[in-house]
Amino acid sequence: MTEIVPPGHVLPVAIESPRHTGLGALDYLSEQPLAPGTLVLAPLGKREVPGLVWDGDPAAARTTVTLRPLSGVLTALPPLPADWRALIGFAAGYYQRGIGELALAVLPPELRKLDNTRLARRLAKLMKPGGVALAAQTHEAAAPDGVLSPRPTLSDEQRAALAALADPARTSRPVLLHGVTGSGKTEVYLHAAETALQAGRQALVLVPEINLTPQLEARFAARFPGRVLASLHSALTPAQRLRNWLLAHLGLADLVLGTRLAIFAPMPRLGLIVVDEEHDPSFKQQEGARYSARDLAVWRAHQLKIPVLLGSATPSLETWQRVQEGRYQRLPLALRIGGGAMPTVRMVDMGRAWQHASTQAEKDRVLAPVLLDAIGQRLQRGEQSLLLLNRRGYAPVLSCSACGWKSGCPHCSAWRVFHKSDRTLRCHHCGLSERVPRACPDCGNLDISPVGRGTEKLQEQLAALLPQARIGRIDADSTRGAGSLQQQLRAVHDGEVDVIVGTQMIAKGHDFRRVTLVAAVNPDTSLFSSDFRAPERLFALLMQAAGRAGRDAEVAARSEMWVQTSNAGHPLYAALVAHDYEAFARQQLAERRGAGLPPFAALALIRADARSAPVAQAFLQQARIAAQAFEGITVYPPVPPPVAKVADVERMQMLLECPSRTALQRMLAQWLPELDAMRGQHKGLLRWAVDVDPLAI
Ligand SMILES: [Zn+2]
Ligand SMILES: [Zn+2]
Repeated sequence: MTEIVPPGHVLPVAIESPRHTGLGALDYLSEQPLAPGTLVLAPLGKREVPGLVWDGDPAAARTTVTLRPLSGVLTALPPLPADWRALIGFAAGYYQRGIGELALAVLPPELRKLDNTRLARRLAKLMKPGGVALAAQTHEAAAPDGVLSPRPTLSDEQRAALAALADPARTSRPVLLHGVTGSGKTEVYLHAAETALQAGRQALVLVPEINLTPQLEARFAARFPGRVLASLHSALTPAQRLRNWLLAHLGLADLVLGTRLAIFAPMPRLGLIVVDEEHDPSFKQQEGARYSARDLAVWRAHQLKIPVLLGSATPSLETWQRVQEGRYQRLPLALRIGGGAMPTVRMVDMGRAWQHASTQAEKDRVLAPVLLDAIGQRLQRGEQSLLLLNRRGYAPVLSCSACGWKSGCPHCSAWRVFHKSDRTLRCHHCGLSERVPRACPDCGNLDISPVGRGTEKLQEQLAALLPQARIGRIDADSTRGAGSLQQQLRAVHDGEVDVIVGTQMIAKGHDFRRVTLVAAVNPDTSLFSSDFRAPERLFALLMQAAGRAGRDAEVAARSEMWVQTSNAGHPLYAALVAHDYEAFARQQLAERRGAGLPPFAALALIRADARSAPVAQAFLQQARIAAQAFEGITVYPPVPPPVAKVADVERMQMLLECPSRTALQRMLAQWLPELDAMRGQHKGLLRWAVDVDPLAI
């Protein structure tokens, strides 16, 4: 047997292309041997695409095809390490994406713009003495007044949690740090990070929201002066993101704080992963490779045999079930630091609260009279109230009293929301914004009026009812400008606001010391959603909102959480009144088990977008027929999602369910290439995608 040895080295390269094109790793020629993880440029057809030298042997058939030489090598960048490549390989397989597609999507985009010379210059700048020390100094400066705050004394529970974490026999399992708001989870993170740092390791801390990173960064910087801290999230400039990513990759950063994309930061000395608010849906990427950063954190920690700490007051039911099965270890922090109690929860029956309303104005009121009184009392005592209403704008729809016209969006199956402040009708799905018409576009009637209520209307009503109160509003509209959210939060902290009206944005993480009343104005809409996870999300939101009240022990005793509802007897509210997460989880898990839903089954969702609904439907129908060849998988009929049309694109989805995660994985790997082969037969199909472990259904 004669073997034809091609000139140079044959290397497998993971190139940037979707999985189902059949292009995984391709073989290329290189003049020099290159280590796996080296970033390269490779010719593909007439194009040139970025790629990464990958692991494994070149394909066996190399002798029969003419291999092309690589067109460029970024030798200045140290190769991406083996554990990083393993993470990418796992995630690409699990979420059904191409290895090169995922790998290149999670690298800083700025890398593509640099050649060897320019990259080498940047690296030299970071590596030179004083380069990174400078970075550490800037963080030190971020600590308030540069003064190191004294360390808080640990509670018994915190000490017990840390002792358990220090026991290597116990931390082979992921740890759920189950603590109510204000129980001092962050202090446990800080201690765990300190242990890792003292052992010469790096720590990675993931948070759900960009808005939460500055305060967390300040706390870590104050605790670890002189250490290098790098943040990674999508609000950084491309240059900042590259710089911080390089600090992580070169092992120069001791601490990396970030949102979900930070899970893919290469960290050669990684010794601890923390996922704060692990239940938060924003850890799941909603486009491209739809990965869960929380789940990947658990995988990455297991692979590296390092501790992973999942923190939450209301753990996801997936995590909670794993605790029940003994696969995760639960460390409780049941008490609030300083001995403050959780607020008393009071239900307001909406039917009864309005039954004595005589005038239309009274019936139209967003808040029940008893709740308004309670807010008035806070005002007199100089305390703050926080009102949660999950609908921004003034009113969800404008309507004509004569012909019934409603302000629909011409491009989406949704209403356009009335924004009174600038007299516009805005679609929250496609962004279409128009001036409010003077008269009904259908019949010319001048009497068109808002129906329902949003944050703007609540703010307006409150201003009329409590003229002496200073009212602030925090939602996606009021925080549009750069830094405006931080500015508004500061106003709340400084006591310049008495009542804060806002969407779920205000429920998360912000530490409001003087809030003694939190009210959910109209949470019922989530109780009867078609999405089986809606109650879980609502419960987490309400518990989190309740946690905003009474953070100071001194005011905790008179802190209250109010809920306006027409379903006061609902088990979810009963569990909320008792602050009983476990009762809620028990009830939900029993329901999920009965219905064969996660965590007792694995799901995948196929989404198809087309110019017309029948095209998307036909594609999914054909896919469904092809799926019948696989046993043990339930494939539900294609249905439109809750908002089916967005920006003139019709969307359809189809759910797959299987009791076994592995069986579903196997099936998807075989079936999805068939879908890609069939797409050509469906003219007008714009795109299709798979979402493994979908969160929103
Ligand atoms: Zn009309
Ligand atoms: Zn629209």
